[in-house]
Formats: sequence, C-alpha cells, structure tokens
Amino acid sequence: KQTKLGKPKWLKLQIPTGKEYLKVDKIVEDHGLHTICRSGKCPNIGECWGSGTATLMILGDVCTRACTFCSVKTGRPDTVDWKEPMRVAKSVQLMGLKHAVITSVDRDDLKDGGASVWQATIQAIKKLNPETTMEVLIPDFKGKPENIQLVIDAKPEVISHNMETVRRLTREVRRNSNYDRSLSVLKFVAEAGIRAKSGVMVGLGETEEEVLETMDDLRANGVEVLTIGQYLQPTKDHRKVYEYIKPEVFERYRVAGLEKGFRHVESGPMVRSSYHAEKHVH
Ligand code: SF4
Ligand code: SF4
Repeated sequence: KQTKLGKPKWLKLQIPTGKEYLKVDKIVEDHGLHTICRSGKCPNIGECWGSGTATLMILGDVCTRACTFCSVKTGRPDTVDWKEPMRVAKSVQLMGLKHAVITSVDRDDLKDGGASVWQATIQAIKKLNPETTMEVLIPDFKGKPENIQLVIDAKPEVISHNMETVRRLTREVRRNSNYDRSLSVLKFVAEAGIRAKSGVMVGLGETEEEVLETMDDLRANGVEVLTIGQYLQPTKDHRKVYEYIKPEVFERYRVAGLEKGFRHVESGPMVRSSYHAEKHVH
C-alpha cells in the first residue's frame, strides 16, 4: 500500500489574485459558464487567469463519465442549453482572447454526444471573434466519425483529444474510455487535415517505456502536438498520486518527443493540456 507522498518543491503554486484574475472570474460568472480550470482544480489558475486566459467548458458542468483522476461532477446532466454557444462567444470576446481553448464534459446521454453544440459553439466564436484562433479539446464521441466530422466542419485550428495515460492504465484511469478508440479519434482529425494534439498525465504508475510507446502510437496516428504533465490528486476521493516525476524525466520526455517528430512538446510538472496552447497553432 502506498504511503502519502510529500509534494516536491517544484510544484509550488501561484496564489490566484489580481485584476485580470477577477475580470476573468466575473466574465465566467456573468455568463453562467464553467471552466475546466476551476472544475478540474487546475493548479495554474493563478497564472492563466492572471494573464487573462481561461479554458471554457461547454455542455454544462456535469459529466456522464467518472474518470478516477478528474474532479468534474458526474451524474445526469441538464438538457442542452442552445444559448450557451453565444454566451461562450461573448465571453471570448470580452476576455479579448487571441486564441481560445474550449473543452466539454462527456455527454454520452446525447445522441450525437454533444457534437452539434460543439459545432454551434465554434461557429459562434468565429462569428464574434473572426481573428481568434481556436483549440477544441473534444471527448471521444464514442469514436463515431459523423460526430467528429461536425467538429471538423467548423474548422478550428487545433483539435485535441487527451489519451490521459498509457495503454495499460487506461481502464483504471478513464472510465468508459478506450485507448484505441481515442487513437482513432486523433487519426480521423489528422487525416482531415486539422492539427491533432494530445496529452498525457504522468505519475499515475506508468513506466518511462510506456510513455515512449504512447508517443509512438500518437505519432503513428498523425498527432503533432503533445503535452505531458504531473498528475495531481484533486481530492482525497480521487486516484492517488503514484509518484512525483522529477523535472529531469520531463526533460527526457520532451527531447524524446521532439526526436519522434512531434512539432511541439510541452513537458513539465505543471503542464496541462491547455497550458501555453497559443503556441500550438503554428
Ligand atoms: Fe485553465 Fe488550462 Fe490554465 Fe489550467 S492550464 S488554468 S485548465 S487554461
Ligand atoms: Fe472528467 Fe472523464 Fe468527464 Fe472528461 S470524461 S470531464 S476527464 S470525468
């Protein structure tokens, strides 16, 4: 049985405060929106919101899956709110984002998994913010091509879908998800000519070799951007941190990823999939 691990010094956080932080907070609140920054208890909230950026989470804040690492609420979600796309677009405008990152909960309760709301959201953002580039971090839509196609048709610059972990740990880390199905989503995106991006968390009990294998799988399916960050336990009811990965290991992953042909690799303890996302468009 695992003993409690002490948090290493490289994981110290910036306390959320300041004018920009409060501005982002107010915009999100005023528009009845949710962010993965807050719902996912992201440690970078001080830095990101402090510099005026946030990752909005669409389709409500209740997810139909219950991944063991994730602090987003689970249960039966509300009915679809068709006014949400416009409120998201408006918030992007008020935040003045040059690059917007949008994500969603999983909506296995909806026939199209929420893909049509995704499409409407991207279109609304483009309409109000024609200069803004976009990354959309999508669910797997149960691997259904017609749903992924709805997102592709709205033409965001980057489509990301996170593997979250290596093949062996997928079943215990991600409920109702499947490693190969996620790879097939990414392949479909890459083959449509849109930049495909993925992310994994480390410190979940994986070996270095397994991380390298995951990189190979991603490259073999056309993925060009990779993020690797330390898993942190959001509450005591979530999966325990198996290990705090040392900065030098993250550096090894970064170098290995670039050698394997990724265009961008963000690898470091505090890296999250939306962290420094604006760099991944180019
Ligand atoms: Fe939000 Fe992403 Fe920044 Fe975390 S890294 S605070 S999820 S934008
Ligand atoms: Fe969290 Fe899993 Fe739902 Fe995504 S699918 S919001 S990771 S519980």
